Amino acid sequence: MSLLENGTASIELGVEDYKLATINANRAVSAARNIYAGILLLLKHCLAEVSESLVFQRLKPDLSTGTLEWVPDGKKTVDFIQIRERWKQLGWGFDFALLEKIQRERNAIEHWHSETPTESLRELLADSFQLIVAIFRDHLESTPAAHLAPDAWETIAQEAKIQAELAEACRASRKAVQAVPEPLEDFWEDEVQCLECGSELLRVDSGTQFPDIIIVCDRCGENNDVVDVIEVCVGAAYPDPPRAWRDGGQSVDKCPNCDVNAYVLELDVCLFCGETRPYDRCAMCGATMELDEQDGEFCSYCSNLGWRD
Ligand SMILES: [Zn+2]
Ligand SMILES: [Zn+2]
Ligand SMILES: [Zn+2]
Repeated sequence: MSLLENGTASIELGVEDYKLATINANRAVSAARNIYAGILLLLKHCLAEVSESLVFQRLKPDLSTGTLEWVPDGKKTVDFIQIRERWKQLGWGFDFALLEKIQRERNAIEHWHSETPTESLRELLADSFQLIVAIFRDHLESTPAAHLAPDAWETIAQEAKIQAELAEACRASRKAVQAVPEPLEDFWEDEVQCLECGSELLRVDSGTQFPDIIIVCDRCGENNDVVDVIEVCVGAAYPDPPRAWRDGGQSVDKCPNCDVNAYVLELDVCLFCGETRPYDRCAMCGATMELDEQDGEFCSYCSNLGWRD
């Protein structure tokens, strides 16, 4: 079998497993494994389309034909990290972050102790849907429907659609919350994730006024604390630049107004309470007022000189 046939067969097997996963949790594990493996095989197929040797981990120079050729050295083929590296070297685009998420989902399912991890699987299928479409469209000038068994592809597409509808319902429940500070609105609707499982299926379970609400994850069922969600998700969206620990140049700091760690320095606004710093410049010397100097109108230097009163 070719890599392409292997890949599609693996995905089809995974979908069969998926259908049986609700009654047999072992099937969930093999569903996740097969679908992930199938995507890797499709990616290898794309490399092989350029040159068979690109699929192998190690290459060696060969002059036996009179001209230099790079031939496989051993039988090991490329893994996730090497596939990503070759892709980059070839200047090709692909959403490897999403593939990494699928890898994490697969690992989570393998270590999952629940009887029916079907919600996680659904998300995995929905994410896979996007990648499979992209591989066929962007690299093989084809469509999944032309290569996958119709019922397998229909199942994947159907699950992706259900996942999208669930995500939309959760987003709508967040959007309906009143008193969300304006600078937070977009972030609150689009960027928050469950702290337990990373799913976007965060639904407002009760309460109408931000932040006095209870949010639950529709994938893993965990209650998520609103403050924790904002702190962690804002931190992830605005990561510290390299060497920040040495230079003190972090991207997000504690808000002087609400004490939540969600003050985004580049926006100069807190993504929890929506406030900016009360004192921009020192009333005495005109120096920029740091976040930890916001308890009065004078900077710490001037305060120390006795101007506080
Ligand atoms: Zn969750
Ligand atoms: Zn704040
Ligand atoms: Zn001053």
